[in-house]
Amino acid sequence: MTDKRHIVHAGIGLVNDDFQRDVALLVEGASILEIGGRAALANRHPTVPVFGGENLLLMPGLVNSHDHGRALGTVALGLPDDLLEVWLAGLGSLPRIPPQLAAQYEGWLLIRSGVTSVAHSHNPASLATMFEEIPETLAGYRQAGLRVAMFPPLLDQNTLVYLDEEGFLSSLPAELRALAITRATPPALSLDAWLDGLQHLYDHYHDAREHRVHVQASPVGGQWASDALIQGAAEWARANGTRAQMHMLESPYQRHYAWRRWGQGFIQKLDELDALGDWLTLAHMVWTEADDPALLSDRGVSVAHNPSSNLRLRSGIAPVAQFRKAGVNVGIGMDGHTLDEDQDYLREMRLAFTLGNRPGAHAEDLTPGDVLTMGTRGGVHATFGQEVSLGSLKAGWLADLVLLDWQAIRGDWAPPQIPSIDHLPEFLLRRANRSHVRHVMVHGEWVLGDGVHTRLDENSLHDSMREALAQQLPSSAHLLGPLLRQFYANWPD
Ligand SMILES: [Zn+2]
Repeated sequence: MTDKRHIVHAGIGLVNDDFQRDVALLVEGASILEIGGRAALANRHPTVPVFGGENLLLMPGLVNSHDHGRALGTVALGLPDDLLEVWLAGLGSLPRIPPQLAAQYEGWLLIRSGVTSVAHSHNPASLATMFEEIPETLAGYRQAGLRVAMFPPLLDQNTLVYLDEEGFLSSLPAELRALAITRATPPALSLDAWLDGLQHLYDHYHDAREHRVHVQASPVGGQWASDALIQGAAEWARANGTRAQMHMLESPYQRHYAWRRWGQGFIQKLDELDALGDWLTLAHMVWTEADDPALLSDRGVSVAHNPSSNLRLRSGIAPVAQFRKAGVNVGIGMDGHTLDEDQDYLREMRLAFTLGNRPGAHAEDLTPGDVLTMGTRGGVHATFGQEVSLGSLKAGWLADLVLLDWQAIRGDWAPPQIPSIDHLPEFLLRRANRSHVRHVMVHGEWVLGDGVHTRLDENSLHDSMREALAQQLPSSAHLLGPLLRQFYANWPD
């Protein structure tokens, strides 16, 4: 792999959004130069080495369009799943993993899963030290070889409960009130200081040429961000030609919050703030209004769909088929919260496909092709922007590739005509998982070979992780949980 040019070959490949047999790519440096059959490319370039094989399936690198880079699952770290609002209150008590190690470990997990780009919503140890942590996180991802859209978050309201913090505080027993007041105090990072920090990070790290790092804004979520914060973030993203990502309408209580606060839905409210545009991605979008898909489509807003996380945190199932029908771009994120706590992106696509097809003859279809697009080109659009030449195998585009063990996915039992090329998308979505990922290339460089990371040593990573966690007590169940549940029990579902 030292030659600057090589031919990558597979028996089947997803080229220009269609599966084809006998696919070969000529890769030079970071880019795909030519696409054709193996014999044709090898004849035209007889001195260029050929890598790959008949029993492999080639596809573009997968895109995790919403995550937090926690490295380990939250159950593994001691926090049980619960209602979103109850679970969130326990996040602060998780053991801390040093930021660079967390990103290396997360990056290693993602590369093994065929993911070559991640949208990373940073959960800092504290907002006061966030901008010191982020360069370490970026270094960790760089070592793992992953592209990253980094969005440092800010929140400035409703940090304890939505809408009625006074009422909640006065209902608490005295011994819990001090703890709750700490949580109710918005973080000591002003909007101006956050925007300064973002600008500094953007000026140093945003890479609009090679797209290794993008720096973006993130007012954490609708109910946690004042109008001034949302508008400040929107203005900053537009002025710098970058993007913003927000959590939105994840739980039913967030939807009720908007109606109680403004007598209208959240998306309508954002539109009034002039805060919808093609620079914006909204994560989750489970509890939508009937006319939201059309409005999002009209404004060019993308959605990052997180199917496992929405199930585990008891939020529900997002109306993805309606988004697709309305023409909304959708990516898929894992939110650090997949069903098996293993960041298996191929399984996450399987879940998105399965949940995306709702009961009943009148339900909109979500096709296997839709889901493959969401995992690749749609994910690039939601994560870096539509103009970035990633997410599809095309001549002139950047070379982020995944080779899967097609023989293992196919198994021994299928008759030779199964699957036909038309049924390949469903066959792949129904059967593939991360154990089938054999080789991964990012920006023209192999970062996974025969299932092994080419830069990071797996044993050292595990040792470092054990060492980091051994020094900390496991998280214990947080005291406010039952009272938070009681608070929202008085809201409509
Ligand atoms: Zn999230």
